[in-house]
Amino acid sequence: MATITVVPYYLWTVGIDLFQVGLFFTFFIASGLSITLGYHRLFAHKAFHAKWPVKFLALVFGATAFENCALAWVSDHRRHHKHTDHDDDPYDISQGFWYAHIGWILFKISPEPPWDNVADLRKDRLVMWQHNNYVAIAVTVGFLLPALLGWAYGGPMGALGGFLLGGVARVTAVQHMTFFINSLCHTVGRQPYSNRTSARDSWIMAIFTFGEGYHNYHHEFQHDYRNGVKWWQWDPTKWTIWVLSKLGLADGLRRVDDEKVLSAQLHEAHRRVNERLSTSLHSLNTRSQEMLKASAERLEELKAQWSELKGHYRAQVDAWKHDYAEKTDEELQEARRAFDEIRREVRTAFDLLERLPSAA
Ligand SMILES: [Zn+2]
Ligand SMILES: [Zn+2]
Repeated sequence: MATITVVPYYLWTVGIDLFQVGLFFTFFIASGLSITLGYHRLFAHKAFHAKWPVKFLALVFGATAFENCALAWVSDHRRHHKHTDHDDDPYDISQGFWYAHIGWILFKISPEPPWDNVADLRKDRLVMWQHNNYVAIAVTVGFLLPALLGWAYGGPMGALGGFLLGGVARVTAVQHMTFFINSLCHTVGRQPYSNRTSARDSWIMAIFTFGEGYHNYHHEFQHDYRNGVKWWQWDPTKWTIWVLSKLGLADGLRRVDDEKVLSAQLHEAHRRVNERLSTSLHSLNTRSQEMLKASAERLEELKAQWSELKGHYRAQVDAWKHDYAEKTDEELQEARRAFDEIRREVRTAFDLLERLPSAA
């Protein structure tokens, strides 16, 4: 509420100051990344290991997002993955967009469900330290620190600006960013990997959420440290984790094999084509029908080729493992080239699918 009343009033009377804008963005990035990289990928999914300074900063600045302590957040989040779209999902989208967005936190049922899915985190001393001092950390670092920095820069009015922009407005921005994952990312976007849940991929959402917008991929492969699995997909969280690993501050980055990702894509595309073929064939023109049939056949072929290649590849690796390292390398490279070929063909088949008129 303060964000849409007091903050604009302050900006109107005092004006926009580059220092305050810088404070807003610094705290926005620090708290936002602490949620996506820390709370989400590190603590909830264990997608990588981090050294204590990373954990410490993620816990301190994660608290300043005012989305609860890591223990409670992770417990909610793990239930979200386990019961997606059902009653026990804390941000169940089937209860409506606004419920998934912010309603779940406004109408929280008390008492809290038992935190029976975070035993691993209870053993972590840093996590427990944050849990026991959550409010103090959140208020001190989230509100007092930006106010102090503002004071150092511009006296009492600077302190007020720091509190309003680095504190209040920034908390609102980060919270809506997180909430959009639970609402928009279960409503708009594509489902290239699976339609088992309502989760969707959206590059627009990824821009505002440090890369968390690739939510369909994330629900399918939740332990991957990347949410944007393609190298070109906007995912600053994965880039930060990668940089941390190069600096020796993180290791054990978990990633799903390209082959497995492609298999999921193939499987889902095949399911979509078959669905179209069975439900809307008569309502399409001849050309679309032909395209649809052709891509269904092509996908079928590719799937067969793919499993053959996979078997071949595995057999070769086993056979040549120790004695002929060089030869194995060659075989592997050949398999990889064939794999790239298949991947290109799959992309063409996907493009074909995209051009089809949607089912009537
Ligand atoms: Zn989700
Ligand atoms: Zn998750």
